[in-house]
Amino acid sequence: MHPPAHDDYEALRERGIAANGWPMRSLWCAVSSDWKWTGQRYEPHDVRGGGLDSRHSSSDARIDPMAVPLYPIWMGFLVDTLLYSGLWPVVFWLFNAVYKTTRSIIWSLRGLCRNCGYDLRGDFSTGCSECGWGR
Ligand SMILES: [Zn+2]
Repeated sequence: MHPPAHDDYEALRERGIAANGWPMRSLWCAVSSDWKWTGQRYEPHDVRGGGLDSRHSSSDARIDPMAVPLYPIWMGFLVDTLLYSGLWPVVFWLFNAVYKTTRSIIWSLRGLCRNCGYDLRGDFSTGCSECGWGR
């Protein structure tokens, strides 16, 4: 709903609930939005009850797009927390795999052992005498 186009309206109040989270909604707040005519345009949005008011609303904003909810929805909060905490080991494993692969390629291009970085002077045929790679 857009603000009233007529200048006679001082305010149009809307009330609702804003809830965010992914994959489940995990936080909510009660919101109330007042459309007030400032003399140049309608200023929307005023959050009340468990949320932060970002006050960076566009003129087309409605009740909830700019609200940052703070009240937990426990089931969604639990599911989201378990999901994201379970993803961290996968993320660390991926970063570690990319790091080790990149390091191995760089060492190999420089003629070093691709496992430990020992200087093989570009001769990979006999393997590494330090760590045993390629033997
Ligand atoms: Zn080595």
